[in-house]
Amino acid sequence: MTADAVVDLSGVEFGYTATPVMRDVSLRVEPGEYLAIVGPNGSGKSTLMKLMLGLLQPDSGTANLFGEPAHEFDDGARLGYVAQHASASKEMPITVREVVKMGRFPHVGFGRLSKSDWERVDQALDTVGMAAFADRRVTQLSGGQRQRAFIARALASEADLLVLDEPTVGVDAESVEAFYDLLASLNEQGITILLIEHDLSAVTNHAERVVCLNKEVYFDGPTDEFVDSDALGRAFGGAASVVGGAE
Ligand code: ADP
Repeated sequence: MTADAVVDLSGVEFGYTATPVMRDVSLRVEPGEYLAIVGPNGSGKSTLMKLMLGLLQPDSGTANLFGEPAHEFDDGARLGYVAQHASASKEMPITVREVVKMGRFPHVGFGRLSKSDWERVDQALDTVGMAAFADRRVTQLSGGQRQRAFIARALASEADLLVLDEPTVGVDAESVEAFYDLLASLNEQGITILLIEHDLSAVTNHAERVVCLNKEVYFDGPTDEFVDSDALGRAFGGAASVVGGAE
């Protein structure tokens, strides 16, 4: 038996109003892939992500997550989400360890964390290089450190899918490369990475597969084919000249 696809969209149509913003989108993501979704503002990236995660339902077509209808999927522990800025943390005066501890909640319910739960928390902090910051408040972290803390939360929950929405916006330049190195090493360990990304060099340097969206999918293929295709200019316009991270 083949493993279920992580994401399987087939013929998805969707509109918030009578005007469709998603037309005939089919997309299958297999376990272990590292996929970037690119497109200009308003092209439907966030909508696509919400459809994939079951936060929106297609008007027609099907959206499955781990082999189940996405809107019925309820094993949140398998799924780690890292938002832009990880903004929710700004007002939360909690420590890094407390954030990462939340990753165990789907496993322990309202119960106390066992010794092995705490070991997972510490291991996750270690993996993302944040052990030394465990007792620091999230509000005191740099942008890159904060994003690492949220990745650690996903690791503590044993997520096998990481969805990241432009995760390095607001992260200082020196930390960006280390952040993508961390994602690469998690992907090597088998975690599926779904990256919504505006930074062309992050896409070309790291993703294995690129999906270009503008209400419909107009390119879906390996990153090296994307780099040689017209889709790159269409997706990134004038930014195409910065391939290789020349800025
Ligand atoms: P992106 O993430 O690529 O910027 P979005 O998925 O946010 O694109 O938006 C796709 C289209 O859907 C845009 O035209 C946007 O204005 C519209 N849209 C997004 N969210 C809503 C909403 N809640 N209600 C109505 N229209 C929306």
